Amino acid sequence: MKPKAPGINTICTHVGEIKDQQFKGAISPLYMSSSYAYENVDVKRYPRYFNTPNQEGLSKKVARLEHCDAALIFGSGMAAISTALLSFLSKGDHVVIQQSIYGGAFNFMVEELPKYGIEFDFTEGFSEDDFRKKIKESTKVIYIETPSNPLMKITDMEMIARIAKEFKLVSMIDNTFATPVNQRPADFGIDIMIHSATKYFGGHSDLCAGAVAGSQEHIDRIWNTAKNLGGSLSDYTVWLLERSMKTLALRVKAHSRNARKIAKWLEKNSNIKKVYYPGLRSNPEFKLAKKQMKRYTGMLSFELGNDIDPNIFLESLEMIKPSMSLAGVESTIIAPSKTSHALLGEAERKKQGIGENLLRLSVGIEEVDDIKTDILQALIKGKIK
Ligand SMILES: *Cc1c(COP(=O)(O)O)cnc(C)c1O
Repeated sequence: MKPKAPGINTICTHVGEIKDQQFKGAISPLYMSSSYAYENVDVKRYPRYFNTPNQEGLSKKVARLEHCDAALIFGSGMAAISTALLSFLSKGDHVVIQQSIYGGAFNFMVEELPKYGIEFDFTEGFSEDDFRKKIKESTKVIYIETPSNPLMKITDMEMIARIAKEFKLVSMIDNTFATPVNQRPADFGIDIMIHSATKYFGGHSDLCAGAVAGSQEHIDRIWNTAKNLGGSLSDYTVWLLERSMKTLALRVKAHSRNARKIAKWLEKNSNIKKVYYPGLRSNPEFKLAKKQMKRYTGMLSFELGNDIDPNIFLESLEMIKPSMSLAGVESTIIAPSKTSHALLGEAERKKQGIGENLLRLSVGIEEVDDIKTDILQALIKGKIK
């Protein structure tokens, strides 16, 4: 009989752990050495080669979670994104990018790619036609993010993989908002999965890291560029991230369950104009989300009604913290127009549907009723008299 593959919580807890041969401790020892022997060894190890024992161990966990051969751990999500793109793009090449992506990734494309002579186009929308229209002779990469920031738009991964195959493009996805707990893009044929591990992978708002997963061939190619760009992560943080990831599936399931309940509840509140959450039946992308996701996400956005002052609402929250970043166990909230998407400028924000009244809530693992209570009291205080 074939042995049964381990379940997701077992992968999170055990895959890639380093056995403590010396003292028989229960968890992976931390190897802080930045200097390893180079003679009579199978592997020449060095932190910037992404192959210290702790880096290697954690990479195995990420690869297994993403249903891939291999992975690399980076110093930040942006180090992962920039390195992945620069590994497959050279002067004169072109990349098709989905409209509405994480603000930092948008800035990288717009500010850095031109310096390398790399061309890019953002799509006008999310349909097959929108993507096909932008593909040129020189296109090498297609880049998506789903669910996307901040409106939780869903891109059809199977469709993207099909287009990529037809035009021989490398497909990349920022899988930060879903995590492999909620969706596995490799199962739909996407080539490269990218994460800001600062978010759900870390999950406690206390570290900054990134990850990339893919086939061995793709990861070897990314490694070649990665060792030159130097965006590796310190072993101490790698070790901390391994600890966090043991509870990844537990946390993401709790975040997603809470977010769906909060989204349904907000939708019924007359002080809320609109709720953006792919797990709502009323959402036009519900069917697509259901098809390609196991669960939805812990992230949602909503628009306050015109009679609620967004600043007073935010100031009045007592438990939910108005703070940058997302995906910690605690609920946090931001106004994208003032933070992640501030640099876009008003015209571009308007085009993407990011108004002053739009708030993005990272739903924590607190009791749902406590989150609701906090929102309710802040809505009352925020009412314009
Ligand atoms: C935060 C974030 C990033 C960037 O990650 P850093 O760890 O801040 O560099 C990229 N994509 C998404 C979706 C994010 O939320």
